Amino acid sequence: MGTESAFESLARARALEKEGKRVLHFEIGEPDFPTAPHINDAAKKALDAGYTHYVPAPGIPEVREAVCEYVERTRGFRPTVDQVIISPGAKPILFFTLLAVCDKNEQVIYQDPGFPIYESMIRYIGGKPVPVRLKQKNGFRMTPEDIMKKVKERTKLIILNTPHNPTGAVSSEEDVKAISDLCHDKGIWLLADEVYHKFLYEGKHFSPSVHDRCMDHTILMDGLSKTYAMTGWRLGFGVMPPELQEKLTTLTINSVSCTSAFSQMAAREALLGPQDSVTAMVDEFRLRRDLIVGGLNQVKGFRCENPPGAFYVFPNIKKLHLPSKDVEMHLLRDLGIACLAGTAFGAGGEGYLRFSYASPRDKISEMLEILKKEYGSK
Ligand code: PLP
Repeated sequence: MGTESAFESLARARALEKEGKRVLHFEIGEPDFPTAPHINDAAKKALDAGYTHYVPAPGIPEVREAVCEYVERTRGFRPTVDQVIISPGAKPILFFTLLAVCDKNEQVIYQDPGFPIYESMIRYIGGKPVPVRLKQKNGFRMTPEDIMKKVKERTKLIILNTPHNPTGAVSSEEDVKAISDLCHDKGIWLLADEVYHKFLYEGKHFSPSVHDRCMDHTILMDGLSKTYAMTGWRLGFGVMPPELQEKLTTLTINSVSCTSAFSQMAAREALLGPQDSVTAMVDEFRLRRDLIVGGLNQVKGFRCENPPGAFYVFPNIKKLHLPSKDVEMHLLRDLGIACLAGTAFGAGGEGYLRFSYASPRDKISEMLEILKKEYGSK
């Protein structure tokens, strides 16, 4: 098993803080906003109303209904309740899907750089990880042509993460349709990891789920961690064909039994209630993105794309002629800036850093000034 080095990096930064050092945080991928008060109130009410016991393994029926309504509003089709499963975070949807569909040595295609848990989980369940190298000149998008070069007889699953962690890239409508068609034609599962779908600063989000309504090959994976600033609540969901949903329900019964009952009632409120806190958060993230991209492009040795989605930037630092990990360590130990080496997301991340801009604008400005002082201004 691998790991998510954001958590290790955060621990290193916290250890330095304990020694009295000041650290500016750009390493961890969670919104720095509180959960909205109406969502907290729904959880408190649920506690008092007795949502403190086991609930059905695939989720409380009215919460699964809320997911159907949410998917209709955000993706444009309404799944049936038997396609929906609620999970403690989006991560178990990934883990359970791999366990349910992938046999030993079967291949799983995914983006590199990409969310490190994909490769870790594929290896753990005995599958064969098949990374697709993303190219900066393509705006870090995984194209259907890239995928076709990797598809073999034993390809079982493709993971498509859009908007993308760590680059912020967003797949085009044509690419998403072509990837969906390819999966249909070749009988390959497609896991659409869309946990950042609300973090979009220009253009549109295209989900492959609309093409088969998650009835043929698509598994839609989403969660409340990022969209509703609820990382600690552990709330996610999957939408998939009912036969697969049954298998994930069995895996749920065998592992976690169910997702926390009062958390689920808070999720219902989040999905169906007022959405203004989401809009306000995304507006603020857009301002931060513009600030950090503009600033990084003024630092000597840094070149940064303007990512249309998620809340990460992935500057190219190849001109520094140093391994990304060395730069990460130097920034943390000597300059008090916590960020991640691109290699935390796969070998394709060498020559890049990832900054999460889930940090206030004054902290971003301060960090940019430190970098300009260290490396010089263009
Ligand atoms: N997918 C991607 C691409 C992520 O970046 C993350 C979290 O960082 C997750 C899934 C997991 O999110 P959750 O907190 O819902 O388990």
